[in-house]
Amino acid sequence: MSELPNLASPRELMLLLERYGLKPQHGLGQNFLIDGNTIRKIVAAAALEPGEGVVEIGPGAGAITLAMARLQARLLAIELDRGLAGMLSDLLRPFPLVTVLQADALSIDWPALLKRSFPPGRPVKLVSNLPYYISAPLLYKLFQEKFPFDRAVLMFQKEVAQRLTALPGDPSYGNLSVLCQYYTDAAILFKVSRRAFWPSPGVDSVVLAMEPRPRELTAAEELAFWRIVRSVFQQRRKTLLNSLALAFPYPRELAAALLDSAGIKPVRRPETLSVGEFATLSRIIYNYERKNERVAGDDDVPQPQ
Ligand code: SAM
Repeated sequence: MSELPNLASPRELMLLLERYGLKPQHGLGQNFLIDGNTIRKIVAAAALEPGEGVVEIGPGAGAITLAMARLQARLLAIELDRGLAGMLSDLLRPFPLVTVLQADALSIDWPALLKRSFPPGRPVKLVSNLPYYISAPLLYKLFQEKFPFDRAVLMFQKEVAQRLTALPGDPSYGNLSVLCQYYTDAAILFKVSRRAFWPSPGVDSVVLAMEPRPRELTAAEELAFWRIVRSVFQQRRKTLLNSLALAFPYPRELAAALLDSAGIKPVRRPETLSVGEFATLSRIIYNYERKNERVAGDDDVPQPQ
């Protein structure tokens, strides 16, 4: 295709899709951005330098992709839909630094892909108007992989963005908030109206910037952190004493002593604990289990650390 379309124009977007025999697939979360101002704000938030690496998940018809390609970014665009991936490869042919990969973002080994695709030692960023249905599973995966990006600019359904940035005591504070705030510094950048998309998704969206944070725990301690965070929020109405005793399972005296060592009152509920308190508790539990080569169910009581 010789002339590049204006993808912020619904008419041009529809014509382009029609030419390739494509239609928005609701099941793949295909809500295309048709608001030039939002596209510009997302790209500006990524603060790309020429030649810098950037990954886009779900480029769709290329609204954000084309804007980043024009900045001479070294861009890897990962699209699940074969039809869209083919169309994008045609569209982006004039940009030699852009690669389109047809793949499922949820099945990628991100650290390995980034190592293969970008020169070492240079920042790699992530930009995406994420399909809503993969937001949470993708984030869990990226956190498990230690969030291997230097900066991410991601669009989420408003409610997911609220969960990610919620503080202790907020109704939406949960395991996703704790993991997000342990692995990254996340900040809300701006809201995006449902009218900025075609077809309109029926929910409003929010764009977040996320940057990796220095991690306080060792890899082994982090395993305990994941176990604790996931299990206590499955039973958020229970006190920490009850949910730890049930989840691990620990005798109540042992659970109480571990909480006490972490300076946490056993009657508190999981949604009141800060990320730092979860980290401290994880370190104490990990060290206790290691020292005692503990099989869950032992009834000894730990010494305060
Ligand atoms: N970036 C485009 C835009 O802003 O107009 C499209 C965004 S649309 C919300 C999400 C895109 O993600 C769709 O193109 C969809 O096909 C793609 N997608 C859905 N699931 C995916 C997955 N698991 N891996 C990669 N891409 C996926």
